[in-house]
Amino acid sequence: MSRIAYVNGQYVPHQDAAVHIEDRGYQFADGVYEVFAVHQGRMVGEQGHMDRLAHSLGELRIDWPMSARALGVIIREVSRRNRVRDGLIYLQITRGVARRDHSFPDNTESALVVTARRMPPLDKEQLRKGVGVITIPDIRWQRHDIKSVSLLPNIIGKQQAREAGAYEAWMVNNEGMITEGTASNAWIVTKDGELVTHNASHAILNGITRLSVLEAAVAAGVPFSERAFSVEEAMQAKEAFVTSSTSHVKAVTSIDGHSIGNGHIGELTSRMLDLYVDFIETKGGPQNTNTWN
Ligand code: PMP
Repeated sequence: MSRIAYVNGQYVPHQDAAVHIEDRGYQFADGVYEVFAVHQGRMVGEQGHMDRLAHSLGELRIDWPMSARALGVIIREVSRRNRVRDGLIYLQITRGVARRDHSFPDNTESALVVTARRMPPLDKEQLRKGVGVITIPDIRWQRHDIKSVSLLPNIIGKQQAREAGAYEAWMVNNEGMITEGTASNAWIVTKDGELVTHNASHAILNGITRLSVLEAAVAAGVPFSERAFSVEEAMQAKEAFVTSSTSHVKAVTSIDGHSIGNGHIGELTSRMLDLYVDFIETKGGPQNTNTWN
């Protein structure tokens, strides 16, 4: 079965899908994106992704290419045409095609691309196997709350992780605090047993998976703290994990080669994975989705 993509009004074979060379996304990374997980035939956190998309577009003053409702129809159609039961949907909106000039063009229509990819179903056993992360300086701009396609520091960081044999790179700001991973949010369980992830601010992308895990924690009465944590605190942590639409809840068992806990998935991490999966299967995703800053 061949893959189908949506590009500016048309469904086309994935291999032929293309945008103009003067698309501002191509020339300036002047665009935003969302990645939706599809789990057992349902989109996870659709409302959350749409609200975050609205935030990203609004902050950059990029027009919606169509209503959120129409966009929802297209996303579902791309998913359907690619027979995605488990997988990912990628959506990108750029400021459109215009003669190259840094300032915003007048009267340009936003450009929209939607693709979908089938993936193996969520595999708890696999997620429970611990992975390593490395720490790297956070050299990004100052608006990580905007899900911009401008990802150079993230891809360089992820490549560094890969070359170090690690799964992810956690980025560290000038104060020695871990903000997040290059494509995921970072979590620890401190030596005192406190579940911690960075608070939502301009310093991180407020992950939809992060929000689901927090809501699942509230529902189950698991205490947590949304605050910054240092590299030292992470090194001494009992447990660690990452969250994202692609990685779900994935155990981290080493940081910069230093073993976390006993080198195996921690108890609370394992519980949060179960709670998360139950949560998305029953609630579909976070209910409180207006938490952007
Ligand atoms: N932070 C960054 C920098 C990311 O790229 C991602 C993945 N989109 C996340 C966090 C996690 O977000 P989500 O749970 O919405 O996938």
